[in-house]
Amino acid sequence: MHTSTFKTCLLLIFLCIQSQLLRAQNRWDAIDEDIKGATAVDTIKQGKYSLIFINKSPDFDTAVKKRLVEVFFINYPKEAKLYNKKTTRKVVFIVDPAYEGVAAAASGIVRFNPAWFKKNPGDVDVVTHEVMHLVQSYPSGAGPGWITEGIADYVRFTLGVDNEGANWELPEFSEKQSYENAYRITARFFYWVERNVKKGTIKKLDKAMREKVYAETFWEKTTGKSLQSLWEEYSRKPTISG
Ligand SMILES: [Zn+2]
Repeated sequence: MHTSTFKTCLLLIFLCIQSQLLRAQNRWDAIDEDIKGATAVDTIKQGKYSLIFINKSPDFDTAVKKRLVEVFFINYPKEAKLYNKKTTRKVVFIVDPAYEGVAAAASGIVRFNPAWFKKNPGDVDVVTHEVMHLVQSYPSGAGPGWITEGIADYVRFTLGVDNEGANWELPEFSEKQSYENAYRITARFFYWVERNVKKGTIKKLDKAMREKVYAETFWEKTTGKSLQSLWEEYSRKPTISG
């Protein structure tokens, strides 16, 4: 009986290690492919953090590239310090013409669409938003997606290096909105909660998501008000300036 429990244990440990190895291998295999198709690969280190910049777009503007790197080293350490000191210290940026969205982040890798930056060369705080997703690294099923995207845009709004230059701002409140709209609409609501209800709420919210303990009761516990009543209060008096 004992021996077989022991054997099962060993087998489980073995399987666990193997799947971890496979996962790591998959990730680096993916980058290997990207490196093969790259026009340039740079590794930049500053303090605790390093960035591998893989450029697969031959005509990608070098000035934009320089600014993306700058924004990374300004904001990633800040985001790590404020929200999650255990976040990965090695990040990979891939400028990938095959990627059709604006940008996406997962497992330490951020993919950027060069066509977006051709049209919007000033939109460098896409980096601020995307690398926040690395800092968040919420486990699957951590909570609603509107919170994830709301926080990433809240961070872009509060830490952005040049939101003005990108013409990026929070939209005015309108009756048609809901906190579930995500991105900037939710970011504005989060900012209002920070300013008018309880400072530190968004930091706690981010932590709850990462620890997979978020439930709607979070709002009542943290601010003394339910999510619905916070939103109602916000819709009655949505001012965030001054
Ligand atoms: Zn996002």
